[in-house]
Amino acid sequence: MYDVVVIGGGPAGYAASVRAAQLGGKVALVEAAEMGGTCVNRGCIPSKVWHRAASMLHWFRNSESLGIRATINELDLPAIVERKNGVSRDIRMGMEALLKNNQIELIRGRAIFKSPREIHVDGRILETRTSIVATGSRPKIPDIPGLKDAAATTDEILEMVEIPDSILIWGDAGPIDLEMATYMNIFGSRVHLVTEHPRLLFKEDQETSQRMAKALREQGVEVVTGHSLKSAVRANNRFVAEISGPDELTLNVNCLLVASRRPYFDGLGLDELGIRVDPNNGIWVDDRLRTSMDGVFAIGDVTGGWMMSHVASSMAITAAENAMGNDRKFPFHLIPRAIWTIPEVGSVGLSEEEAEAKGLNVEVGAFPYAVNGLAMLRDEMSGSVKIVADADYGEILGVHIVGANATELVGEAVMAMQLEATVKELAESIRCHPTFSESVVDAARDVLNWALYLPRS
Ligand SMILES: Cc1cc2nc3c(=O)[nH]c(=O)nc-3n(C[C@H](O)[C@H](O)[C@H](O)COP(=O)(O)OP(=O)(O)OC[C@H]3O[C@@H](n4cnc5c(N)ncnc54)[C@H](O)[C@@H]3O)c2cc1C
Repeated sequence: MYDVVVIGGGPAGYAASVRAAQLGGKVALVEAAEMGGTCVNRGCIPSKVWHRAASMLHWFRNSESLGIRATINELDLPAIVERKNGVSRDIRMGMEALLKNNQIELIRGRAIFKSPREIHVDGRILETRTSIVATGSRPKIPDIPGLKDAAATTDEILEMVEIPDSILIWGDAGPIDLEMATYMNIFGSRVHLVTEHPRLLFKEDQETSQRMAKALREQGVEVVTGHSLKSAVRANNRFVAEISGPDELTLNVNCLLVASRRPYFDGLGLDELGIRVDPNNGIWVDDRLRTSMDGVFAIGDVTGGWMMSHVASSMAITAAENAMGNDRKFPFHLIPRAIWTIPEVGSVGLSEEEAEAKGLNVEVGAFPYAVNGLAMLRDEMSGSVKIVADADYGEILGVHIVGANATELVGEAVMAMQLEATVKELAESIRCHPTFSESVVDAARDVLNWALYLPRS
């Protein structure tokens, strides 16, 4: 009898197995494909290998302002794909070694629930006290005429060894869409980024959307919002997409990317168990990450919500600890979001609009990168740090960063919010100079109307 059987070896399942083993549990991890899941094999790691190459290329091309005149001979995409495969392989090997080191039994195969305490894997029966479902997500192609035949997913795009002349990226204009638009544009594709939503990154603060739309347009991406895709037809290795909205558009491209995803639990036997599924089509969980079935937890992409690796691996800790008899809540309000575009995006907590919709008395402060010394000397002046705070108590409700290193910088904001620091405490804390983190302090000072380095309003 196991204490915990974890289903899925992505960032969620891997972290859950290790944490449960650290707490003394007898743990099995079932994985149907390769260890590492989407993140290591088809997501975070591969796309950030692309990001590294794309940002280097971007900076070489724009290095004249720094006093460097560089000539680029060629973009060797097969070499980038090979590098990506190598990094993913190294991470997978490290994961498997750490499972062994923690005496976690790795079982290769597809898990199916027969009862809440009995899981079958290719004929083998695993009896367990608790289980953690971490089966992740899969690409989702919306039901639009011709799209299933025409669309490529990020799985295929990240294996590509030749850059298409033109690409239509259709979807929610969420983080992955924007990252792909950035990289493909830098690599030389003519990029059309089209969404039905009235703005890019519709879950983020309005100003973040505006800044990113402006940045992408300046880089040469065609950004079209408020338009829907009516049909896509494949014709001689090209795709003709009919787009409608305020304008009727016909795009003729040689690649069509749909980066949307859906929680994945096909064939796991959840229906038979009667486990509740949310309207977002993820497995419903409470704040302890318990499903509607006693002893069964669910974590990561399969629960819907913010589909990001660090969410998956931090949910894993809460679920594993609870499976091992503790009682921990998952802090949904402290989930940071990160987007590796140029400039980057990092955010946590409520947007200004969300805080106002909650009827809170909101005070906002912002500090532009254009006035930050490091941003100026590095010629990375696009962006700002925006803080949304409660006007009465100074509680930090949300932080929205667009700019260089935003994905690292947002960690400051998470820490401040986790420790329930007020804007006053943040405004009075000291940072090294010159750093981007000075802008976080300056934005806090702006909330309190004493930003030293901004003109008085
Ligand atoms: C292109 C792209 C870029 C991304 N970039 C980032 C990023 O930079 N940062 C970030 O935070 N997130 C990023 N993400 C999202 C991130 O990859 C996911 O949020 C993360 O992988 C979710 O982890 P998970 O463990 O929940 O699921 P997954 O990683 O999907 O793992 C689920 C695992 O379960 C296995 N499985 C499924 N069903 C069964 C079964 N019945 N039995 C046994 N095994 C099963 C699967 O084979 C898979 O290995 C990106 C995603 C994509 C697509």
